Amino acid sequence: MNKYKYIFGPVPSRRMGLSLGVSPIPKGHCNYSCVYCQLGRTTSMTNEIKNFYDSKEIVNEVKDYLRNGFNFDVLTLVGEGEPLLYSNIDDLISELKKITKKPIALITNGALLSDKNIREKIKDIDILLPSLDSYNQEMLRKINRPYGKIIFEDSVLGLEKFSKNFDGQIWIEIMLIKNINDDKNSILEFKKILEKIKYDKVYINVPVRPPAEEWVQIPDEENINFAVNELDGISMESLASEGFYSEEIDDLEAIISIIKRHPMNQFEIKSFLIERKNEKPQEILDKLDIDEKIIKIDYKGYKNYRIK
Ligand code: SF4
Repeated sequence: MNKYKYIFGPVPSRRMGLSLGVSPIPKGHCNYSCVYCQLGRTTSMTNEIKNFYDSKEIVNEVKDYLRNGFNFDVLTLVGEGEPLLYSNIDDLISELKKITKKPIALITNGALLSDKNIREKIKDIDILLPSLDSYNQEMLRKINRPYGKIIFEDSVLGLEKFSKNFDGQIWIEIMLIKNINDDKNSILEFKKILEKIKYDKVYINVPVRPPAEEWVQIPDEENINFAVNELDGISMESLASEGFYSEEIDDLEAIISIIKRHPMNQFEIKSFLIERKNEKPQEILDKLDIDEKIIKIDYKGYKNYRIK
């Protein structure tokens, strides 16, 4: 069994190397239900900020992990949902800073950056990775399907304010979806918004993993290139991914612990097992295939595995 409840990985991140994930919220809690979400449709739509877990328990797990001297490059606050819904995120960040010198990153959809208190709570992180898939309220409704009265302009203004007083790095991610936000006008709208924010990098992403909605498609190469050039962005497709990694001894458990939060396809599972000197990767894949807790999704010739 995976002995950790809050931490997972490290998983390979195309932007950050080996990322040790720390999830401070229960599965599926999010204030968005993005059409491209690789976790499927949001199961617990909420915008209520709550103390879901005792931050000490989370920190103790990270301490235990560090005691074993395991390797990672960055510690990433990321949920199977939206980590800014965790009310104790400020304590968590300050306690984590005391026990590791590795950079602390936070992946967020950015909706709650409209709240001054929340901006204050996260000011000590090293890298903020906010999403910016929309450029107005209508697009936010189409792509991110926010909870209740989340207002696009408020969230972006929050990001703008945060960026002006933040000492760390801001790496913005734009997810482009074919025929939704990938046309030239959309890219020029993104450009206008980016001009107001003080950021370090902008990543252009496309839905490479099975999305929540089947109609979501990857844009044509020409549009991706236009966005990369016009926004001076970095195409996530061009970034090489490192291999998956787990400290779990048992191969099957290692895969299960990864796919709880990060889908893997059959090729990734095979190379992960080969790397771990497993001589019968097909047997593990067969076990995954018959396990009813695991969803299998065929997407663009890849069979993707993730936990329900
Ligand atoms: S992609 Fe992120 S913000 Fe969007 S629904 Fe999924 S977890 Fe929430």
